[in-house]
Amino acid sequence: MRWLPSLMIALLLGAAPARAEWFYREEAIMGTRVAVELWTEDAELATRAMAAVIAEMRRTDELMSTYKPESQLSAVNAHAFERPVTVDREIIEVVERALEFSRLSDGAFDITYASVGYLYDYRAHQRPSAEQVATALPGVDYRQVQVDRGANTIRFLRKGVRIDLGGIGKGHAVDRSIETLRELGIEHAMVNAGGDTRLLGDRRGKPWIVGVRDPRNEGRMVTRLPLENEAISTSGDYERYFEEDGVRYHHILVPGTGEVARAVRSATIIGPDATLTDGLSTTVFVLGVERGMEFVSRLSGVEAVIVDKDGRIFYSAGLAPPQ
Ligand code: ADP
Ligand code: MG
Repeated sequence: MRWLPSLMIALLLGAAPARAEWFYREEAIMGTRVAVELWTEDAELATRAMAAVIAEMRRTDELMSTYKPESQLSAVNAHAFERPVTVDREIIEVVERALEFSRLSDGAFDITYASVGYLYDYRAHQRPSAEQVATALPGVDYRQVQVDRGANTIRFLRKGVRIDLGGIGKGHAVDRSIETLRELGIEHAMVNAGGDTRLLGDRRGKPWIVGVRDPRNEGRMVTRLPLENEAISTSGDYERYFEEDGVRYHHILVPGTGEVARAVRSATIIGPDATLTDGLSTTVFVLGVERGMEFVSRLSGVEAVIVDKDGRIFYSAGLAPPQ
């Protein structure tokens, strides 16, 4: 068997060409941690590609933030009841996608949640009174948002309506970033923004392994999933919240009542793109285990992992429970 050592050396050399490697960068953007990991043989391209992703995230944040008074969305919220407000095509498309999720979920996902949601200040630990919620609640109704695709305008049919793309914007930014990487010729990458991740290709011969976090134990995983060319998003009650008298007030609201959603601790969605998984993870969080799983079963190519309010774990039919 004298040929064996030389064959092995040849194989090893073949498996590790000169400077081909994984590159990684992370930044704090959109109030969260943004990370990109990619593989290429060209270090200069890697630097450029990672910078393009970071720039894409910053751009989307500027465009869609409601914290920035000069953003287009802030202009919509200030004036869209008085007159149609012109916005970039990109905002029109994200808002239309959001409205589609609203129709699909019968209003469990609703970007007008913000008509009540703006009354919360999680940093200052402030929440609205029951009266304030009741007064603002009629503004929560996605049917009051009128999009004109021809004119690129948004109009509100009712006073007091506000929108916020917090439940879908990060997924959109992740999708745009993956598109940018693809255009640059990258074939293996992971882009993550807070709870939203999308994978381009595999991890070179093996799948990416993405962990689903234990909602009550930061260092622990509920499960790990092997994924390729897919997106995965988690909505949790642990991202943005404060506690008052032992009750947790977090950032996902039930549109029908304006109350904090309490059915589950986290909802994870796996699907073809991150705009979808981002929107649907928030949706399923609102719907809870039973209605959430029923909702997911009606969508092809979409799977879910839900941790309910008692910490029990549920998997959709297409996911074999881990051994
Ligand atoms: P994260 O922002 O932590 O990744 P999500 O994707 O679940 O989590 O988004 C939560 C955000 O979605 C909230 O901060 C808020 O901006 C928005 N949101 C809250 N409730 C709803 C709802 N019922 N429908 C649509 N968006 C919502
Ligand atoms: Mg979401």
